[in-house]
Amino acid sequence: MIDEILSFNRDFVARKAYEPFVTDKYPSKKLAVLTCMDTRLTELLPQALGLRNGDAKIIRNAGGGVLFEADSAIRSLLVAIYELGVEEVMVVHHSGCGACHMSYAEFKPHFLERGIPEEVLAAWEKWGIAEWLEGFHDTEASVRRTVEAVRSHSLMPKDIVVRGFIIDSVTGALTEVDCPENGCRCGCGGEHEEGCGCGGHDGEACGCGGGEGHHCHHGEGEECHHGDSEGGHCHHGGGCRRHGAQAAARVDAMSWAFDRVSVAIRPYLGGADDPAARAEARKALEPFQDEIAALDYYQRSGLWQQDYEADEAGRLPADIRRSVLSQDGLYNLLEEIGFVSKTN
Ligand code: ZN
Repeated sequence: MIDEILSFNRDFVARKAYEPFVTDKYPSKKLAVLTCMDTRLTELLPQALGLRNGDAKIIRNAGGGVLFEADSAIRSLLVAIYELGVEEVMVVHHSGCGACHMSYAEFKPHFLERGIPEEVLAAWEKWGIAEWLEGFHDTEASVRRTVEAVRSHSLMPKDIVVRGFIIDSVTGALTEVDCPENGCRCGCGGEHEEGCGCGGHDGEACGCGGGEGHHCHHGEGEECHHGDSEGGHCHHGGGCRRHGAQAAARVDAMSWAFDRVSVAIRPYLGGADDPAARAEARKALEPFQDEIAALDYYQRSGLWQQDYEADEAGRLPADIRRSVLSQDGLYNLLEEIGFVSKTN
């Protein structure tokens, strides 16, 4: 195939077919689009958005998301903004995305079949390949998370406009996803309010477990169909329809936070006896204070235990992200954070 492409290319240049595309490197619409590498979007997306050569920086990866602070998508956006004059960013995920439901459990047999040795995979597992190759499970939530990750990035100028969309992979129709300013990082669409104790989330769509404060109505008497209010929490786990859905959203959101924090701290594990290494680890964890607070609350409030038991009993949906429920995983992570937090 590549040889065919090379011969086409020689002909393309010879007949000067490039002439209609000549432009410079500065995007004339001062726009960047972060989207998926899906082949259905290659021509459809620019045409459906009315973008021509020279109009916009289009950044593509599997899923169109941002996984961590130093993600290459962020790097590209920073270049587009600081060097090339971009002022607005569209995050565009799409229907039927292959990165939805992607998981390392499915990748692993393929790696082995293609001759990647088990010990190489073991090293990558230590690094965090499972989180790295994990897809998202809710396209809207993924758009919100990505918009929030771009907006709240510590190197992002505050005047950059960032909006989120889902494009129909067949018709090209764009649907805007409501991404509130100061929205929470878990992608639930809930609004951030100080003091709710859940580390940056509020609103019942969040499912993060921040139910203790007065802002949040999770599990209160009149809203729980089982009538068992018992303070802020429903004790029906996944057995109650309403709170089962909340539990699933909460586990997904907490797993997302768990994965991001795990990846951030991983390079510093084992160096906790060295004050300099602890300082570096604290620096690496700085952008994740909301996530850490939410995870800490999740464990202290007993919600982790409740969700863990619901999952063991098979009451949570099969296809949610659930890394936070791995045995001792959250406990160990919080312990590690405790170690590196020591400043002496
Ligand atoms: Zn996709």
